Amino acid sequence: TWANVPAGPPDPILGITEAFKADKDPRKINLGVGAYRDDQGKPYVLNAVKKAEDLIASTNPDKEYLGIIGLPEFTKNATLLAYGADSVPLKAGSVAATQTLSGTGALRIGGTFLGRFFPTAKVIYLPTPSWGNHTPIFRDSGLEVRQYRYFDKKTVGLDFAGLKEDIQNAPEGAIVLLHACAHNPTGVDPTPAQWKEISDLVKEKKLFPFFDMAYQGFASGNTTKDAFAVRYFVEQGHQIALAQSFAKNMGLYGERVGAFSLVAANPEEKARVESQLKIIVRPMYSNPPLHGARIANAILANKDLYKEWESEVELMANRIISMRDRLHDLLTSTHNTPGEWGHIKSQIGMFSFTGLTPTQTKALAEKAHIYMTADGRISMAGLNGGNINYFAESVSKAVKG
Ligand code: PMP
Repeated sequence: TWANVPAGPPDPILGITEAFKADKDPRKINLGVGAYRDDQGKPYVLNAVKKAEDLIASTNPDKEYLGIIGLPEFTKNATLLAYGADSVPLKAGSVAATQTLSGTGALRIGGTFLGRFFPTAKVIYLPTPSWGNHTPIFRDSGLEVRQYRYFDKKTVGLDFAGLKEDIQNAPEGAIVLLHACAHNPTGVDPTPAQWKEISDLVKEKKLFPFFDMAYQGFASGNTTKDAFAVRYFVEQGHQIALAQSFAKNMGLYGERVGAFSLVAANPEEKARVESQLKIIVRPMYSNPPLHGARIANAILANKDLYKEWESEVELMANRIISMRDRLHDLLTSTHNTPGEWGHIKSQIGMFSFTGLTPTQTKALAEKAHIYMTADGRISMAGLNGGNINYFAESVSKAVKG
């Protein structure tokens, strides 16, 4: 029956973890997957999460099904976190929302909704490069995927002129995917002034902004600051779509907690949109999982837990920032590595686009047991006091050839 099914390629990111697991060398380092690690290199369960779980357990809750679009208090508090308490459409009751299977599920439900109902050309523009899963998610959602320039290899920064030109040339009514903060894989974000220009351009060209916010709090350590672009666009009257993930900022990776929301014109339009979100979700998985949404909601709803969470987000972000400074100093002052390394410090969020070539990343895996994506992206969170010296020394060797 399946004689004609071809073997598919392994996932480019999750495949790295396989190679890492098979490696027996004690010095091995996995910088492939974007999951936070503490300074001992261990996965980190937030104290706010543990306390939220205790709080939930103490109420002895049942395990009944959630509704199709999830836990209503969770989506209310999740959208509040993203849009802010002053958000006009949120206060007006015009934001349609559904709980989703983390950020990926939010993008997929959103993509499917747009594929089904978007009134003009069903074309979505993604930054080059973007998170590797964006293209298959939107293609499988029935959208045509195109690209806009984003990263400039020469400056290891934003290609703002290229971005503007490509957005300018997009057909009226196209969808533009924007990383709300901590762009993956480059770690390069527009400045607030650049966001304002992008907002004007999107408005002028009548494009539709779809924000992917997988790292709120992870960029600066502050969830409000990281929501700048989303809130600015909404203030400017854009009716945005938004995918949120609580994988990174609450460390709830495997619990799959996220939300998709869409700013509608009024509460009546919101109700129609939400009815269609239900029709998309029901035949796919009926309703989302309960436990993770309860945890996230407990944190967002409880003042003390929220405060503790905020300080833990800051702690995670700051550890990553300190690793950037250390790595920069080791590569330059300690090891005199040829090339410019300022971008290690200036890039934002979990990842750094190192500029290492595929040949160098291959050499690092084979000779030094250090694993990263072939494009030279490293998860900064995989570095710690115990492995950063070995990492810098190995990179320096690979660059010197
Ligand atoms: N968007 C971006 C840009 C991401 O980096 C990620 C996680 N790697 C996601 C969305 C979604 O992740 P998850 O489904 O685990 O929330």
